[in-house]
Amino acid sequence: MKTIIIDGRAIANEIREELSHTTSDLIAKNIIPRMAVLHIGEDPSSLSYTKSIKKISSKLNIEVDIYTIEENTNDVHVIKEIKRLNDDKKIHGILIQEPIPSSFNREDILLSISPFKDIDCMNPINLGRVMRGEFPFAPSTPLGVLKVLEQENIDVEEKHVVIVGRSTIVGKPLANLLLIKGKGGNATVTVCHSKTRNLPFFTKMADVVVVAVGRPKLIKGDMLQHGAVVIDVGINDVIDKDGKHRLVGDVDFDSVIGIASYVTPVPGGVGPVTTLMLLSNLITAATRKV
Ligand code: NAD
Repeated sequence: MKTIIIDGRAIANEIREELSHTTSDLIAKNIIPRMAVLHIGEDPSSLSYTKSIKKISSKLNIEVDIYTIEENTNDVHVIKEIKRLNDDKKIHGILIQEPIPSSFNREDILLSISPFKDIDCMNPINLGRVMRGEFPFAPSTPLGVLKVLEQENIDVEEKHVVIVGRSTIVGKPLANLLLIKGKGGNATVTVCHSKTRNLPFFTKMADVVVVAVGRPKLIKGDMLQHGAVVIDVGINDVIDKDGKHRLVGDVDFDSVIGIASYVTPVPGGVGPVTTLMLLSNLITAATRKV
């Protein structure tokens, strides 16, 4: 079987092109889409994600304000800052970068983000709306997975989708989105996790496997049925034999070639699309004010 390697960067470029028309319309009405990214502490991988958001945003004339709050402060200070951003009419979207250090009350912080500016769907109120199938924003990574499927004309209706990973930012919201009665949904969904007994039993039954675990090479070709679509959300920093850092996914890429009908590579698969979905949510938030 020929395996199609999905080009996430090309998909991201197409979305960027589409979004550029909306941003131009907004700018013509004197609305400059603007987001605030808040870091609590200085986690290197989230700082690097913010850098890439800023780079892509600049191509779309989107403004990104970065705020770093020192780790030795408290919830009250962080929530005060978020409320200030909620009230700032020039700011359309707020992203709190993870990880939020464990010394902070994560729940209170996320609940304080205005649901109308919550562009990565971190506020539990918006996450609840995703479960109900009515939402202003869904989290960007599950949206990225759905967008990849849509762009490749992979319809999940009546299909069995097995999601490996049950996190609140990927697995669980994705399961809810795939269950929506309507376009992009109507799938039969199984969610597997660290306590799932006999993972291959489930993955072998899947028409589509989405993996978001954070374990390099967890999913191998012999765990799939022929023709399965494989979407790899994982991003793992591994060190090669020659000591070099390399990003790999959760799928043993070489072993699925010839078995899967489609596979997303890492890097260059879901990741670039995710960032564009975040910006798409921002533009939705900015448009709401028109
Ligand atoms: P997480 O640590 O919050 O959740 C991991 C999930 O994997 C858990 O639900 C756990 O039950 C499950 N799990 C762990 N070991 C397992 C096993 N052996 N078998 C089956 N399930 C197992 O992680 P997360 O935040 O959801 O991220 C998952 C991966 O996706 C990470 O590599 C992360 O870097 C990546 N990620 C990528 C993007 C993107 O845009 N591409 C966005 C977010 C996260």
